Amino acid sequence: MNYRAVETAAEYVARLETGADWRAEIESLADAVDADAAWFTALGAVQDAELWFYDQDECEYHPIAFDEPLEVASCTGNVSWLDGERFAHTHAVLSDPDGEAVAGHLNEATVWAGEVHMRVFEEPLEREYDEVTELDLWL
Ligand code: ZN
Repeated sequence: MNYRAVETAAEYVARLETGADWRAEIESLADAVDADAAWFTALGAVQDAELWFYDQDECEYHPIAFDEPLEVASCTGNVSWLDGERFAHTHAVLSDPDGEAVAGHLNEATVWAGEVHMRVFEEPLEREYDEVTELDLWL
């Protein structure tokens, strides 16, 4: 395990722009407030979505596309540096008109409406390629 203490530098709430990309909006917020590390929760609704599932045998992400309105019942994630850019690692539980849920790593989704709470930390976080998992993990 790799761990560190973190101090909250600031907290923000934000409304995401209709028609924008869900994850890009969170990354824009992180850029706007100079967040070098953050944790966030969010909720709302999207017009479509692409979730990714990581196959641990193949060490590859498999995309799952949804071209329909979905509720963002729950979304959580964090911001850290990856390849010189702020990356919002975003997971979400999305629900359909029957209340059925799908979930996973959220790559992209078109915002219908979204509300975010972001807690920014004093200490920066950075990702680097990990040979065992073939994922970009925190240093
Ligand atoms: Zn993920």
